[in-house]
Amino acid sequence: MKRVYNFSAGPSVLPQTVLEKAASEMLDYNGSGQSVMEMSHRSKAYKPIIEGTEALVRELLTVPANYKVLFLQGGASLQFAMVPLNLKKKGKAAFVDTGVWSDKAIKEAKKWLQVDVIASSKATQYDRIPEVATVTGDYDYVHITLNNTIVGTAWGALPDTGDIPLVADASSNILSEPLDISKFGIIYAGAQKNLAPAGVTLVIVREDLIREDLPADVPTMLRYDTHAKEGSMYNTPPCWSVYVMKLVLEWVKALGGAEGMGKLNREKAAILYDYLDSGDFFRATAQKGSRSLMNIPFLTKIGDPEKAEAINKKFVAEAEAAGLVNLAGHRLVGGMRASIYNAMPKEGVQALVDFMKKFAAANAEA
Ligand SMILES: *Cc1c(COP(=O)(O)O)cnc(C)c1O
Repeated sequence: MKRVYNFSAGPSVLPQTVLEKAASEMLDYNGSGQSVMEMSHRSKAYKPIIEGTEALVRELLTVPANYKVLFLQGGASLQFAMVPLNLKKKGKAAFVDTGVWSDKAIKEAKKWLQVDVIASSKATQYDRIPEVATVTGDYDYVHITLNNTIVGTAWGALPDTGDIPLVADASSNILSEPLDISKFGIIYAGAQKNLAPAGVTLVIVREDLIREDLPADVPTMLRYDTHAKEGSMYNTPPCWSVYVMKLVLEWVKALGGAEGMGKLNREKAAILYDYLDSGDFFRATAQKGSRSLMNIPFLTKIGDPEKAEAINKKFVAEAEAAGLVNLAGHRLVGGMRASIYNAMPKEGVQALVDFMKKFAAANAEA
């Protein structure tokens, strides 16, 4: 069996020990004689899985007692709709536009609310997080995208929104480092980048934002109170994805929790950024001060677009042959992108940089 280093932006690499454990329990979970895929979500065997997953989320993210932890479906993309449907009161929300995902969230929210885009980095191809120190106004909430998967930027200091709930899409950086949950009204993440296989969305929501007085036409499945009341068991939860999330969280805990992950992720990202900043063949696209620890897009310094495009293709093909896969950049940024989520080992990042050095030497212009 040959495993590659997988730099996919999502779905993405999972810890090998997690996959091995899931494989070993595939036919007979904990003496039940069944796979987790087969068992009733209301069974005795399954209950400790979903409850244990929630307990680990609470422990590793230090979730305060007045927040609910929900395991939903529909991806982060459904949260783009659920947030406005559940938080709309005055009818106005503020958004910071930091790229494709925030733009999608804006477009969706506009179906129900007046959206004020209070800051944007579009003018500089989203290569940074715009400065937003404080937000005031008549808003139901303020929405940010904590980590921008496509352009490789991430928020540092959060804006001070006072009493206005801060809502964040943390799909691509949840649990990559410590995060103060109490600063947020709602934080949501599609799990398939840092937590689990696709199919489950983690939503952490402050209890006072879970309303029962919503308009009658809000679909039952799109109300936070439906899921909060039923412990994410109003209907069948994504049982298997939740189970694998539990294994991933156990793995994170063994490595020192959010703090351990943060230390490891800073080391990993530094290996790649230091090389990108020091070499004369490649360059990072995100500005210093706004750089993501998770997604690192990079270009060559070749000026001629056609030549650059040919070299990018050559890089991606040769990297794949060397066991470093899914390095093609997003079409909006071009070039290459290395997603180095929690489960990407340091050795994988080092192997990538070693390969880049060799590639740069072999392809330096005469
Ligand atoms: C991947 C991603 C999404 C979309 O997630 P789905 O679960 O596929 O809906 C949204 N926001 C960010 C920041 C992402 O990285």
